[in-house]
Amino acid sequence: MYVAGPCSAETREQVLLTARLIQEACGNTPYIYRAGAWKPRTSPDSFQGAGEVALTWLAEVQQTYGIDTATEVATPDHVREALFAGIAYLWIGARTSANPIAVQAIADTIRKTRRKPKGVLIKNPVSEDAQLWLGNIARLEQTGLPVIAVHRGCNHKPCWSMAHAIRIARPELPILIDPSHMSGDAEQVPVLLHKAAELHYDGAMIEVHANPCKALSDARQQITPALLSSLLGQLPSFDRNAAGKTGDELAWLRAEIDELDDQLWDTIARRMDVSRRIGEWKKANHVAPLQPERYMHILEQRTLWAQAHGLSPEFAKRLFDSIHDESLRHQE
Ligand code: PEP
Ligand code: MN
Repeated sequence: MYVAGPCSAETREQVLLTARLIQEACGNTPYIYRAGAWKPRTSPDSFQGAGEVALTWLAEVQQTYGIDTATEVATPDHVREALFAGIAYLWIGARTSANPIAVQAIADTIRKTRRKPKGVLIKNPVSEDAQLWLGNIARLEQTGLPVIAVHRGCNHKPCWSMAHAIRIARPELPILIDPSHMSGDAEQVPVLLHKAAELHYDGAMIEVHANPCKALSDARQQITPALLSSLLGQLPSFDRNAAGKTGDELAWLRAEIDELDDQLWDTIARRMDVSRRIGEWKKANHVAPLQPERYMHILEQRTLWAQAHGLSPEFAKRLFDSIHDESLRHQE
């Protein structure tokens, strides 16, 4: 399952042009056309979306190409307006997904409205919280409609462990990757799509804009329809059943390990940077880089911390000796 389209519906021309180019790019591959009418932006000074009028542009795309469209809803009013305009799929964004009261209000509104969407997509919350995501999924399932999880990561990191927890808790639930918001970088989109195919996701929601560098929101992460076309030609298929029931467990665990190791280097590099600043202070104050007393204290305390995590004192000493050596090198 593919969902593709611009971050925001900016103008009628931009929505229709992007739709035409995506239609050409997708050929026979079915997809849902996405565009946000209401944008939950960080700053009130940035583009907030065109609002309700954008729904008429999406309805035009739906009619012209005979395809389904999707838009983001954050309030009961958005739900009513989108369904009234005949939008086929609603999605709930990461910021709204952080607020269970808002998600419940959306679910209740969908339940009460006469016109129903074909399905509801729910992104993971902005902070890494698998339980909150699962709770939101359950709230939306009260509507009786198909619910699809969308993994968009947190702070431009995938957080594979969060998505893995969803796969374990709800193995049958369809899950899409959103490589655009996951990375915030159009260049990362291809590699993340390949990773998701390897992990047997059910598809992807991808931001595609006719002219990404002119986009009014998320310009850096949107890909061109031409790139979408070449990706669709190269990607292994998103096939949940290819791995069998438990066949992809090792790939998931390895994705978690890779991400943790990446974080480990990030933490160590930040530690070295602080150490370098300590080195500068020591130089300015005529203090020798090696302070045995301080090092003995660090070693003792870190060994206790390691033991509290079930790690051996020998391992703690080997690891910290090595970190300390590198740290001194940064103070020279
Ligand atoms: C979007 O899809 O354009 C969007 C705002 O996404 P998210 O809620 O994941 O940030
Ligand atoms: Mn966006």
